[in-house]
Amino acid sequence: MEGGAAAGSVSFGVVEGDASQPDSLVLHAMAGHPFGQPQLTGESYRMQDVRLLTPMLPNKIVAVGRNYAAHAAELGNAVPDVPLTFFKPSTAVIGPTESIAYPPFSSDVQHEAELAVVIGRMCREVPLERVPEVIFGYTCANDVTARDVQQREGQWARAKGFDTSCPLGPWIETELDPADLAITCTVNGDLRQAGRTSLMVRSIAELVVHISEAMTLLPGDVILTGTPAGVGPINVGDEVAVSVEGIGTLTNKVISRG
Ligand code: ZN
Repeated sequence: MEGGAAAGSVSFGVVEGDASQPDSLVLHAMAGHPFGQPQLTGESYRMQDVRLLTPMLPNKIVAVGRNYAAHAAELGNAVPDVPLTFFKPSTAVIGPTESIAYPPFSSDVQHEAELAVVIGRMCREVPLERVPEVIFGYTCANDVTARDVQQREGQWARAKGFDTSCPLGPWIETELDPADLAITCTVNGDLRQAGRTSLMVRSIAELVVHISEAMTLLPGDVILTGTPAGVGPINVGDEVAVSVEGIGTLTNKVISRG
């Protein structure tokens, strides 16, 4: 696992321990960034003394729409012939201790629990068999969407790109087979979404091939792989939690924009 920051200073770090027993977790601070040959500083902290920031500040987030058939159907859409892709801006990213600020131009903001792929190497035109070489790890994401704005406007830049619309975290799992993981979303503890990554229409490898055919991916870039069925509204005061099996839980409160 990887991600984090420590008292008085901000750094990357390596998280060690059993995520199901939070008291056991220790963060080892890292000098510089985690790509290539990461070096530890020798300083370690108990996780309860650390505030986790977003595990990555991506240059870009490329998101994939309608990659679970049941979700496409619930919004009255067909699965597209080619993957449907869109951007979320870097300014939309927040970490696991920050809040989603409800945008004043929407009255129907919804959660979308997703598995996020973090790119580890600069790459373009990646062949299918070499995709594992360019993936650094995986984290949880919430592709927060102003559904009414998405339906009103032909392009989704505002509906899916407003500030705080891309929670990521709580950390990046670097040793994980993502082929068949449970993915869930709860709102105030009530289960809203429950799917499995094996239900993706296009696999992670196919998505990396498709996206990198068009553009250079940089270390830290993030690909959102689509959401399973069950999307629904979140409101000010709610607490929304995205969990992916083998990674952990990303929890964010919803507040009004100050
Ligand atoms: Zn989505």
